[in-house]
Amino acid sequence: MLRQIIHVDMDAFFASVEQRDHPEFAGKPVVVGGKPETRGVVAAASYEARKFGVRSAMAMALAVKKCPDLIIVPPRHHEYERVSRSIMEIFYQFTPLVEQISIDEAFLDVTGSLGLFQTAENIGRTIQQKIWQVHALTASVGIGPNKFVAKLASDFHKPQGFTMVHPDQVASFLDPLIVHTIWGIGEKTALTLNKLGIKTVGDAKSLSLTRLEALFGKQGKQIFYLCRGIDERPVVPEHEAKSLGKEITFSQDIIDVSYLFSIAGKLADQVGLRLRKGSKQCRTVTLKLRYCDWETISRSHTCTDPTNLTKTIYQNISLLIKKELPLKKPVRLLGVSVSNLCSENVQQQSLFGAQDVREAELTKVTDHLKEKYGEMAVVPGSVLYGKKTNFRKMD
Ligand SMILES: [Mg+2]
Repeated sequence: MLRQIIHVDMDAFFASVEQRDHPEFAGKPVVVGGKPETRGVVAAASYEARKFGVRSAMAMALAVKKCPDLIIVPPRHHEYERVSRSIMEIFYQFTPLVEQISIDEAFLDVTGSLGLFQTAENIGRTIQQKIWQVHALTASVGIGPNKFVAKLASDFHKPQGFTMVHPDQVASFLDPLIVHTIWGIGEKTALTLNKLGIKTVGDAKSLSLTRLEALFGKQGKQIFYLCRGIDERPVVPEHEAKSLGKEITFSQDIIDVSYLFSIAGKLADQVGLRLRKGSKQCRTVTLKLRYCDWETISRSHTCTDPTNLTKTIYQNISLLIKKELPLKKPVRLLGVSVSNLCSENVQQQSLFGAQDVREAELTKVTDHLKEKYGEMAVVPGSVLYGKKTNFRKMD
């Protein structure tokens, strides 16, 4: 079936919020981030700052060199998160199929909403207007028959872009773009392709599937389809997500490692509980750490046997944390998530060792107690140490 996918991406989100709230910054080069003397990095740059070559993730010291009049604003993540939630609410007015991919962008599958709102174009324009009316912020909108095309389209005329790519325009839209724009193509792959004379997405079509697979393995297949504008990935709303997780943003950045472990234990327990409630198990456990300067790392471990036991999830998360020690910077956010989900298979239990069976029995009892007396009725020992309440947000 022909789909209609919209990608909405806020323009220079953090910087735009600051320019909106500080009218004296309007039209000026503004960045959000840490100070250069604290080895800060640029979290977001206004379009005026970008003219000087300032980019996000750039060291602040370098940014100041490029633009001596740069206005550096400390981040107000609470505010960005609040605005983000409100913007996502606008999207849900048009479709339940909203997949948020970062704080300031989301995919919407509006195929089923066209009866109500006529066209995808109409929905896209209305969303842009609503975001402006409610938040005095601008967004760029891209519309296409799939996620890949929609995302490239939203980036096409930023800021305040509006690009609609009809199915019969996909080839003419994609062909002239540099091959780097294809998802998953990094420096190395791009270099290999360039050496073969492949500069644009259109050029890449000259390579056969066999050739691409021989060159890049599994990724070759992806390149083959994406350069032809073929992308079947669905828009996955949160409740059907293939992963689930919990994260905490601390009110103060954390350097106390034992506290981190205790919170990891609590998160692992919540994630485990959600898996067990849904009769699901996971194979992959992922740790997310965001440092005080907003640098974010994500580390995963995939287990041979699927699990939904708090203890096993916690053990894996602990190992991942240990690999990041000593902490290079204070931590502002800790997240635990699980993916590679499968349905709980009762028979599989017999494959577990006696210890796991005992652990599973014990978990059943504690789950029952939690159900009856609330989540804090039974907590892993690791959590008790860190019974502080300085969370910014728990979701
Ligand atoms: Mg953006």
